[in-house]
Amino acid sequence: MRPKIAAGNWKMNGTAAALSELDALTRALPENPPQIVICPPSPLLFRATDAVHGSPIQIGAQDCHAEASGAYTGDISAPMVADSGASHVILGHSERREMHRETDADVQAKTRAAWTSGLTAIICIGESDAQREAGETLDVIGAQLDGSLPEGVTAENTVIAYEPIWAIGTGKVPSLEQIAEVHDFIRNRLATRFGAEIGNALPLLYGGSVKASNATEIFAVENVDGALVGGASLKADDFAPIVAALARA
Ligand code: PEP
Repeated sequence: MRPKIAAGNWKMNGTAAALSELDALTRALPENPPQIVICPPSPLLFRATDAVHGSPIQIGAQDCHAEASGAYTGDISAPMVADSGASHVILGHSERREMHRETDADVQAKTRAAWTSGLTAIICIGESDAQREAGETLDVIGAQLDGSLPEGVTAENTVIAYEPIWAIGTGKVPSLEQIAEVHDFIRNRLATRFGAEIGNALPLLYGGSVKASNATEIFAVENVDGALVGGASLKADDFAPIVAALARA
């Protein structure tokens, strides 16, 4: 049985006042909640891990550097993330790939760093609008998987998030058939490279405009083990129904 995971990416949103959303979310959780990972901006990591103490919510960072320390102004390292009490780190989000020119090789190096610090890497992959229009989706996804994942992937140290770039923050969602096609492809690719046991055990999340209104049907798609949610993770009132839908799935 693969774990179900509801992950929230707050992106560059929220100051200390936003931590009250973690209390509100804890209070709104269903009886048997899935795994929940909230990824606030890095200045909030220490306080967020304190805020969820005693709650099933886990905390993750949105990125980490491949080096453990050094002259990298503005960056945070995997040991720093782990020191905060966080358990996860999002790597290779399309916004980092686009705006910070992160390559698959960068994501792979960061993944190794995350593992060394005991963190679970949530590795994001996804095609652009133009790539989908050109019929290149599976080629792009395959290449990103091959390039971003180091040897040593296990179901405990890695989560894959399929996030079509054109669906992020746009309100556009792929059809359920399109989601199924890509998730099946990812599952097969992982099984081919890492063996059936690991391939079948790795959690695969869908991300891109997930909301309470579409969560149930997305979670019913085979090989969708949860979601990485941006906008709708900022408020407990929006995220709790998504968590509840996953708990029911
Ligand atoms: C994301 O950025 O990871 C994301 C899925 O955003 P949204 O849910 O807002 O589309």
